[in-house]
Parts: sequence; C-alpha cells; structure tokens
Amino acid sequence: MPDGRHSEGPTEKCGVVGVSLDDREAARPLYYALYALQHRGQESAGIVTHDGFQQHSHVEMGLVGDAFDEGDLGSLNGETGIGHVRYPTAGSVDSSCAQPFSVSFKSGSLGLSHNGNLVNADEVREELAAKGHAFTSDGDTEVIAHDLARNLLEEDLIRAVKRTMGRIHGSYSLTIMHDDTVLGVRDPEGNRPLCIGEVDGGYMLASESAAIDVLDGEFVRDVKPGELIVLKPDGSGFDSYQLVDQENTAHCFFEHVYFARPDSRIDDNLVYDVRRELGRKLWEESGVDSDVVLPVPDSGRAFASGYAEAAQDEGAGVEFAEGLMKNRYVGRTFIMPTQDARERAVRLKLNPIRDVVEGKTVTVIDDSIVRGTTSTQLVQLLKDVGAEEVHMRIGAPAIIAPCYMGIDMASREELIAAGQDTEDIREEIAADSLSYLSIDAVAEALGESRADLCLGCVTGEYPYDIEGETTDREVARPEIDGAEAGIADD
Ligand code: SF4
Repeated sequence: MPDGRHSEGPTEKCGVVGVSLDDREAARPLYYALYALQHRGQESAGIVTHDGFQQHSHVEMGLVGDAFDEGDLGSLNGETGIGHVRYPTAGSVDSSCAQPFSVSFKSGSLGLSHNGNLVNADEVREELAAKGHAFTSDGDTEVIAHDLARNLLEEDLIRAVKRTMGRIHGSYSLTIMHDDTVLGVRDPEGNRPLCIGEVDGGYMLASESAAIDVLDGEFVRDVKPGELIVLKPDGSGFDSYQLVDQENTAHCFFEHVYFARPDSRIDDNLVYDVRRELGRKLWEESGVDSDVVLPVPDSGRAFASGYAEAAQDEGAGVEFAEGLMKNRYVGRTFIMPTQDARERAVRLKLNPIRDVVEGKTVTVIDDSIVRGTTSTQLVQLLKDVGAEEVHMRIGAPAIIAPCYMGIDMASREELIAAGQDTEDIREEIAADSLSYLSIDAVAEALGESRADLCLGCVTGEYPYDIEGETTDREVARPEIDGAEAGIADD
C-alpha cells in the first residue's frame, strides 16, 4: 500500500470504460461513465479519444470531478475513446502509472485501460526490455501496451491481441484503443468484470453495468472470459472473437460481496440480489435472535435486509434498523500513518444512534473483516452507547490471505484472520459472538461452482501460478519466450 495511506476495507484497483459512437463526441459520455465507476478508483482519472487522425489524452491525479474541466472535455475530440479510474496497488503512486496509458508506435497509436493485475508482468517486461523496449513506468499496463504494439508490427489486430493474451498471465479486463477502434478484452478466467452496453448512437464497454445505466443505455451482456470485443468505429455494432478457452473461470466473488455497486449486473447476477441472498444464508447458517440487526453502511445494508427478512420469515423478532450513521465526507482511504490514527478514522466515519441500540441485543452485519480495526471499534462504540450484547455476522468467509489480482487486501501479517480461528478473532474484537459465511453459501448465492470462482483470499489457493503460493487448479501459464500456451486455434 502507498506510504501513509490505509483503508480498513479491501480496495478495488480500477474501473475501465470504452465507447464508440456515430456522430457524437465520446468525451462527455466517457466522463459520465467514469463518474459511475468512481468507487473503483479514486487516485487518478483519464480519458483518451481518437478523432480519426490523431489521439487526444487527458489524465490527472484525483477524482473524476476534479480531473476534468470544460476545456479538457472540449479538447478530447473524436467519436471513440476509452477511460479509466485508478487506485494503485501495483506500480508507483504517481502520474506515470495513471491511465489510460497512451503511446504511439510504428504500428499506430494505442491507448490502454487495465483493471486487474498481471502475475508475470516482470518476466514479460524483462523480455521486452532485452529486445530494446524502454519503459516509462513500473506498471503492468505499459507491459501489455508494449507487447501488443510489438505484435501489431507482424500481425493483424485480432492475432496481435491473441498473441499478447498468450504471453500475459493474471487478471485483466482491458479497454484498448488502436487508432480509432475500441476493443474490450477479458482474461481467460474472467476474474474482473467487463460488460457491453448499447447507448444512443453506439456501443460501450464498462467494468460495471451501472456505467451503462447513467448513459441511459441498455445492458447487452457480459464480455465472456477469454473474449475480445471489437466495437465498430461507426457505432453500428460490435464483433466478438473467442480467443482463449479455459475449462474453468475464476470470477472474483468479492466483486459481489464488496466492490461493485449494488445496482450493477455482473456475470448474470444483480449485485444487490446476491448481497440480499448472502444475508439470507447468513441467517440460515448462524442466525442469532437479537432485538435489532444493524448494517455497517453502506455495503452491509443489502446483507442486513436479507438477513432480517429471513429471520422474520422464520418468526424471529429481529428488527432491521439503521443504527450506525456514516459520515459521507470521510473518504474510503485516509492519510493515516499509525494504528492510532486508523482507529480515530473509524470514529470519524461511523456514529451509533444511542436510541436504537441502548438496552438491546444487537447483531451487526458487515461484508468482510480485513484488519479488524473497524470491527473492534464498532463493538466498543455500540457497548459504549448501551448495547447489551453485540453479535457480529460477516457476509463472506474469513480473509486469510492476500490478493494478487488487483485488490488491496493488506499484507498477510495485517489480516486478522491469518493464523487465527474465529474464536480468537471474536475475543480480539470483543464481540459476544462472531460468524462468517461459508464458502459453499457464497458459491450457491452466485449460482456458480467453487471451481469457477477465485477464492484465493479465503482459501490461500489461487487460480493463477503465483510465485511462493499454491494454486487450486492446473494452470496453463504462458511461456513468455514466444510460445502461446493456452491459446485456442482460430
Ligand atoms: S483473491 Fe479474493 S479479492 Fe482477489 S481476485 Fe480472488 S476472490 Fe477476488
């Protein structure tokens, strides 16, 4: 994590968009779509467009609303473009890693927006550096851009993308601009989301369908794992190329639990519905008949309403109540160099309503526990205002291992559940009881088999070949000296 910056919850790395329109400038729709994806990254925001002759780019550190003014949007000419919001976990915290990454090669201009994390970026970078490629950042997006540009010298666009997919290993949802053509690519395991929408005058790609909604567009479908989507530059449609086939997917279940907006659809599931179902399963597995059930705002809300509804269905007298108020002006991340300051931040962010909890038995529903700082503080806060008992119920399994696929989960040493069982954690956070949701319940709520999910952070076994870690499957790791392991024939 960047110096002095800490987030109690897991932090999403990035959001990507791309649009191809007929007779409409792309900049403003991209800007609105990035607004809808702001929760996926607050460090920098950028847009690259193409006017048929040349590329235009504007990338700034900061939030979307601060990164662009009227003049910036007016200078982004063209009817096609891509955009990006970023929160860094790989690469430096400076503008050299802000995206879209844009560059001109002999093979034309390229712009790239990346959500995810390559686990073999260093190997590909070293090989390209040995062939004379000079890098300006330490991010993995530039590695993909150089590899693709090199392939474009020898291959057509589709084959060039396929060759790059055969060399990079890890998690990636990409929007790419090659000259004025916008592409979308999802890694063969489909780890991070990417979807297609139809909007006024054209088509778009986005990390989440909420970005399509803000443009009054229609959700078309998810991009399939291993699929390349090419938006037609005149906005009339898109072409699909299934470039890589894998037996199993590795969808990140945490997208549904925490990262994605509840109003987004990901891999055939509305996130809001999944969270409510997870809440129902939490009641079925470990319900406690307390007086009130409180969500930790905001993401705990749908879990808690599902939990309370399931409890009431069984005749339990559990009342759903908003007993914790969130200060919306405290961001998801803070400049906090010490544990003491992190604890202060929890107090700044959440305030219990005494009248709702005083003299009552309380169940608190949260989506996850990472370091445990928030949970410890919450239990104390609720007891301070008179709660008789505080029971914690968590809508996900215990996080025992870090994420290497683009999510900031904290280091293994910082994770409260790494090396501790549930009773140890309950004691540490001083709750009257604590239960996590089972992995099977998560898979059921998503309608997926365990084999098609990434469960790395809750099992310690990853769907990719990561140095020093174990994998939960046979992984076709590419050999980067030109072989195209795992790539299906045309
Ligand atoms: S390790 Fe966890 S957070 Fe990371 S991709 Fe897998 S499920 Fe998602």
